[in-house]
Amino acid sequence: MSVEYNKEHPIPAPTVHPDNQGFWEGVGRRELVFQRCKECGSWCHPPRPMCPKCRSVEKEWSPSSGKGTVQSWATYRDAPHPGFKAPYSVVLVEMEEGVRMVSNLVAIKPEEIRMGMPVEVVFESVTDEIVLPKFRKAG
Ligand SMILES: [Zn+2]
Repeated sequence: MSVEYNKEHPIPAPTVHPDNQGFWEGVGRRELVFQRCKECGSWCHPPRPMCPKCRSVEKEWSPSSGKGTVQSWATYRDAPHPGFKAPYSVVLVEMEEGVRMVSNLVAIKPEEIRMGMPVEVVFESVTDEIVLPKFRKAG
């Protein structure tokens, strides 16, 4: 089971701004990158202008392993937007780098999702213009 989209209703596109531009450029290359502080080495996601640990504004985009575990999830039985077709699952993934990321879990039935389940990133072209990072159960 994957997230299905209603082609008659465009889904909202990610909002790209200077703080998250590197993240979305990575996704466009089908590479998951997270913001990393050049001063203290802390990983940070969602991206922000300043390191939450040392307040440095010196940062770079570092590749993620793409691997993590499910920390929480919700399955939508009714779509909150006409562009999405329910049911689909939204997950909170704790990445190996220690940051958490909200996404969809695909290729799995909602009743098969488990707390702590290992997952890995996959990239899905949801429209001609939009690529999204999603997760699937790690083999
Ligand atoms: Zn820092």
